[in-house]
Amino acid sequence: MTKRLVVLGGGESGAGAAVLAKVKGMEVWLSDAGNIGQAYKDLLNQYDIPWEEGGHTPEKILNADEIVKSPGIPDTAPMVAQAIERGIPIVSEIEFAGRYTDAKMVCITGSNGKTTTTKLTYHIFKKAGLNVGLAGNVGRSLALQVATEHHDVYVIELSSFQLDNMYEFKANVAVLLNITPDHLDRYDYKMENYAAAKFRITRNQTGDDSFIYWQNDPVIASQLRQHHLESRLLSFTGEDDDRNAAWVHEGVLNFNVDGDRWDIARDDLSLKGLHNVYNTMAAGLSAQVFDIRKDVIREALADFEAVPHRLEYVDTVDGVRYINDSKATNVDACWYALESVNEPCVLILGGIDKGNDYSQIEPLVKQKVTAIVCLGVDNAKLHAFFDGKVPVVTDAGSMAECMDKCRALAKDGHTVLLSPCCASFDLFNGMADRGNQFKECVKKFKANATNH
Ligand code: ADP
Repeated sequence: MTKRLVVLGGGESGAGAAVLAKVKGMEVWLSDAGNIGQAYKDLLNQYDIPWEEGGHTPEKILNADEIVKSPGIPDTAPMVAQAIERGIPIVSEIEFAGRYTDAKMVCITGSNGKTTTTKLTYHIFKKAGLNVGLAGNVGRSLALQVATEHHDVYVIELSSFQLDNMYEFKANVAVLLNITPDHLDRYDYKMENYAAAKFRITRNQTGDDSFIYWQNDPVIASQLRQHHLESRLLSFTGEDDDRNAAWVHEGVLNFNVDGDRWDIARDDLSLKGLHNVYNTMAAGLSAQVFDIRKDVIREALADFEAVPHRLEYVDTVDGVRYINDSKATNVDACWYALESVNEPCVLILGGIDKGNDYSQIEPLVKQKVTAIVCLGVDNAKLHAFFDGKVPVVTDAGSMAECMDKCRALAKDGHTVLLSPCCASFDLFNGMADRGNQFKECVKKFKANATNH
């Protein structure tokens, strides 16, 4: 009997999964409670896949043999809850696509650094001439690529939401960068649940597979004590400790996988900041597992172009440096941004708080921040925490207002840093919109400054 596959969510992953199911001869139905983008409608129509938007028709969903659910939809959504109650298996798009390819999988997860490390790893593999695909949260869906192209290896960015619905899938190389509080609203506000979801990246690994992780992360260490892993363990550290597969000695990143050694000076890396030392080590180790030549790795690490909205230097106007770190949607990312700033700083915080504890950044804020501009609809939590700890804590309801305040507050030699610790959907159409508006304002300041 033909299998009936229902896809919930008509975004990148859902549309891709629907196409793959169709190509594999299944009966497919795609349903989205919101609106489906025109490009995805066109794709579904092209493959003759029926779909609905603006609501779910239960009869057409609850008769599924299996459901592929978009990672954005929580288990508590009524349609999903009903499907679970009926015992319909629910998988993620990556799990589904993984069944139809024997390509090697390099999978990258963590609370922060996924996109940067995924793109950096892909850049090295591409430079080495491998037939590699980029998938997951960045790039095109794995399912669509499996349906329409052939790659020998995929570099995949995995969020905890994708990992939640993965069961049989195996990463040949699993990278776990760090586990710090994020998305706790989706995990009953329990850090253990979130950490366990992240650790699923190691599921099904055997002795032929590698697990690359940050040695100094206490949450990863605790997960490692609870699980027996068969994979080859390759840890990295920012400390001078050669018991790891990668470590730092006097400003040089050292690598050693089973006696195969190489190194690169930190100054030669195109990406700056301590966090990028870790991201580089993770990418470098992944490349080494694939036996990529060391000179190719070095060259790729030196010429990689930073991903926008991640600690992105925008410009200097009237002696003030502007840095766009709009992607910093949790406290840990902001910590690394503040760590990398050497000047007095005007810090832009705010948006939708996912359960933040600001005490982690308190020492750096007290040390470096002269003023905080709270850019959000509801800034009460920021005021409750920071009032009295920083000379100025003020509010703004739009990016234009925020930037005018920053400009007035920042003196020659200061940095204005957008690293908000929060999601952006209260005032913006996403973190890229927030970052772009920031950059636009800087551009206007620059134009005014040169006109004078
Ligand atoms: P993700 O895809 O996991 O959100 P990004 O590469 O987009 O990661 O970076 C998100 C934010 O986290 C940025 O503000 C960036 O500067 C910061 N960041 C990047 N790598 C790390 C890391 N290894 N540890 C902590 N923060 C990081």
